[in-house]
Amino acid sequence: MSKWVDEEKYNDFAGKKEQEKEKQESGEGQQGFAKKFRPSMGSAEKPKEYEIRFLPDTDGIFYEEYFYHGFYVGESFKFIGCEKNKGLDKYCPWCGITQILYQGSANDKKKAGDYKRKNRYVGNVYVIDDPRDATIENPEYKNSKSVRLYEFPATVETKLKKEVTDNKNGYGLAVFDPENGYSMLLSIGAKKADANKKVWPDYDQTMFARRQSSIADGAELEEIMAQRYSLGDFIEALMITPDAHRELLKSEMVYEDVERDFELKLGGFNKLTTKDEPAKEPAKAFDPNQNVPPVESKPDMGDDTPTYGAPPPKTPYPIQYGDDMVVDSTGSSALSEDDALLASLRDL
Ligand SMILES: [Zn+2]
Repeated sequence: MSKWVDEEKYNDFAGKKEQEKEKQESGEGQQGFAKKFRPSMGSAEKPKEYEIRFLPDTDGIFYEEYFYHGFYVGESFKFIGCEKNKGLDKYCPWCGITQILYQGSANDKKKAGDYKRKNRYVGNVYVIDDPRDATIENPEYKNSKSVRLYEFPATVETKLKKEVTDNKNGYGLAVFDPENGYSMLLSIGAKKADANKKVWPDYDQTMFARRQSSIADGAELEEIMAQRYSLGDFIEALMITPDAHRELLKSEMVYEDVERDFELKLGGFNKLTTKDEPAKEPAKAFDPNQNVPPVESKPDMGDDTPTYGAPPPKTPYPIQYGDDMVVDSTGSSALSEDDALLASLRDL
């Protein structure tokens, strides 16, 4: 990096621009669903440190895991909710195409790596301290003193889970309590660059505060809690319609590979049967005696497709959704992921 450009200042600048963009887009589609907390990483020597309090959502849900598929179509990054958010037994065409491609050529496997299901966690947080706010003048763009949706990687979830599951020493429910609760001291440093020269965030120093505190009280607390988002609504907003799936599958030229399963399980039963006969009442329960084209028996790997959690695919594009959404790397390689999947296919 040239001495003429200051990386830290740039990160702050980029964060501010992102917030402006977010503001402009508010009210439109999923981008505008909620104000997001998108912490950026510091350096190995100087991690960026944030203080946040996790809060239950409007339905009392503490945080939620969700599945998504994220890949580039030309220049634009598609980020779509996996159908398995509705239940692991549900059919998802992108999980389906992933399984098929993993059994193909090296190129197909690479494509499968792009399409495969990934997971992430989401919860409400009240931002108590964000070091980037110091350089932001307009109070409206500051993160602190506001409730945000935070989409976090498995490494952060591990820290939360530890407090929840450690019955002896964990803080338990108190990590979600705005009063007499414990804040997360989120520390994001930088790992050594990986083989692709990509630097991943390092959450190792993240911990919970040792002392209980209250983020606010009385009317101020009521006001804060009224800013929370519904996690169910958030995940719902990531989902796309069967028609949108179909269009995207076609534009990716993989529609034919999953056509039968897709139309049968998601696209609407009638789509395949109404060609030669007048349309009947809308989709009834599946009746195997109807004249449905035979479905090839394919290994249905749906529920066994490994999810790799946070590790990024070894593609030119790290999993980054939009901007500085930081993704943790636990160092597993694309190769070992392929091996794991192939091994599970063999076990069928
Ligand atoms: Zn899926």
